Amino acid sequence: MGSLDLTSIKTSDFGSKRFECNCGRTHRVDTQRIMIGKNAIVMLGEAMSVIPAGRALFFSCEDIYEHYGSRIAGEIINLGYSLIKHVFPPNFRPELEQLDKMAKELPEDIRLVVAYGSRSVCDAAKYIARRREIRLIMIPSTPGGSYLSTTSHLYSGNLCKGYKSAAPYALLCDLNVIRQASKEVLASAFGELCSRLVALVDWYFSKCIADGHHCSSIEELVMQCINMAINSGEGLIADNEFSLYITSEALLRSSLCSQLLGYDRCSVGSSHLAAQLMSPKQKMRYGERCIVAGRAILNMYSLFFSSDFSDVFMPPDKDLRARKAAQILGAHPGRVYDNSSYVTDIGEYRSRLERAQEYRKEFLKLLDFYIAKLNMAWVVFKRLYKDAGAWMDGAIDERDLASSIALAPELTEDYTPLSLMRDMGILERYVQRS
Ligand SMILES: [Zn+2]
Repeated sequence: MGSLDLTSIKTSDFGSKRFECNCGRTHRVDTQRIMIGKNAIVMLGEAMSVIPAGRALFFSCEDIYEHYGSRIAGEIINLGYSLIKHVFPPNFRPELEQLDKMAKELPEDIRLVVAYGSRSVCDAAKYIARRREIRLIMIPSTPGGSYLSTTSHLYSGNLCKGYKSAAPYALLCDLNVIRQASKEVLASAFGELCSRLVALVDWYFSKCIADGHHCSSIEELVMQCINMAINSGEGLIADNEFSLYITSEALLRSSLCSQLLGYDRCSVGSSHLAAQLMSPKQKMRYGERCIVAGRAILNMYSLFFSSDFSDVFMPPDKDLRARKAAQILGAHPGRVYDNSSYVTDIGEYRSRLERAQEYRKEFLKLLDFYIAKLNMAWVVFKRLYKDAGAWMDGAIDERDLASSIALAPELTEDYTPLSLMRDMGILERYVQRS
């Protein structure tokens, strides 16, 4: 049997498909309809036609509501639904407790959620849709790489964590709508997508070192999306409409991978976790932080695998580590424990170290390739808008970046090179030095 080639399938053809894969799993897409095009918004009626009339919940955000938001709300009413509107303030953070409360208090007869907005609106809507087991129609307001994923990033205190959420029932990506997004927003989405290179390295590492599941068909699909975005770079810089469409499609396509895989292994890597931890004082958007952290992390990996590990450190004190992490995150230590996968068994730690040693040369070669690719992305990114990347030239708080990278492995159960470096005591020294 030849290997499954997902790269040849059109993005809009992925809806409701199942794939038997030679990685041993069946990959499936729960989203039934994926519509991308100019005026995709007019398909709203068709997408809603299978859902019985009743009450609909409409999520949007104040800063984008006026133009398309009110039009969509009017359209839903015209289709015979009564509407409960929830318009979030601009730049709101989706809060776990608030959404749990909302899910409980919503009336019984809500049939569907329609969401129009960017990442935060989408995260809130997907979470509510899962909690209430109702269908969601997602209409993106900006290009982004999370609309089709089955994870919502929600806040509890200062701790941001991925929660399982619903795949949208339908996605209407209207190219006329997302064309209104600013260059800064586009740059952020581009940065987020390209730093998935770190996620791919992390993923492959855990296969080799910690026997994690891995799928090369999905890995290729993610790589294809990153290449689509990088190759559209010149056009994006020149404001070319077609390049914007290709990039937007690449972003949506990449967000399918979390449905196909059932988890986020290929979309959230150490760079994304570090980006969540970086101080808001650094006035960068999320995806900008991702690419900044991604560059630093890949270089750290490269340095790490360049030396051999004959010098074995003992794992540092895990209680102390959890308390420290909790303090910095303003979270309860229990919550930090929940997120962590501490290596407690010294035998397991040694065997992982030995395997990392065994794969060292292979990882180094792989890293050369990934670093070159991320550098290509960086060149595009820096030219996307006037101040993009300007803070790299001495303006970034290196200490904040270093401690965010050092804390990143505490936010995930996945075993990454950073986890190994943490268990060796290397990350603590890295923070002390910076
Ligand atoms: Zn597979």
